[in-house]
Amino acid sequence: MRGLKQLLFPTACPICGSLKDQAYTEEYGLCRNCAEKYLNKKQILIMPAFVPDAVAAICPAFYGEGLRDAMRRFKFSGETYIGECFGTMIYKAICAGCKDLDFDIVTCVPLSEERFAERGFNQSEEVAKRVAKLACIPFAQTLTRNMQGRSQSSLLTEERQEKKGLFDILPSINIRNKSILLTDDIITTGSTLAECSRILKEAGASSVAVAAVAGGRKEFI
Ligand SMILES: [Zn+2]
Repeated sequence: MRGLKQLLFPTACPICGSLKDQAYTEEYGLCRNCAEKYLNKKQILIMPAFVPDAVAAICPAFYGEGLRDAMRRFKFSGETYIGECFGTMIYKAICAGCKDLDFDIVTCVPLSEERFAERGFNQSEEVAKRVAKLACIPFAQTLTRNMQGRSQSSLLTEERQEKKGLFDILPSINIRNKSILLTDDIITTGSTLAECSRILKEAGASSVAVAAVAGGRKEFI
């Protein structure tokens, strides 16, 4: 129903579906109520300690109940317009707080082949492509996921700490001296983005900034 509403009224809030306050919705990608409830106080951290190889971490929103529900609808009910709104939120956070950052390529954390086959799309890629489109920067796949068929939620805690070997650079891609914006859907510990950033830097990227729509890390709140 919200998906239909979004088709008819493209400025509807992706979280609550509200059509009120369209100017605010266009400015932040959320309605006034949801913006007040979910937007992080700090949306950008420079040299974030939890992603040591990244120059910046961008995370516009707090991962609270309504946003969690919107994320679920995006990932599992095919409401892909929500991904576009999420991409808009990241783009606006960059524009508002990080004008010095300049990117050559937007890329994303890859999904396992099994998850991709199940879902039909990679949520992080949808968000990344929206950011790329708004910023007029090319999107490119740069990474591949090695471990098959295990989502992060199914991993044991100890394994979450150890992401080494989970990702590789795609052999066909050349990112030497390129500045990269790497996106994911949410930041939990940051270990996935940290490992992917490490690999991108190792493959010759001049800089990596990471972005996720939402997260619960206290540094942003
Ligand atoms: Zn709302």
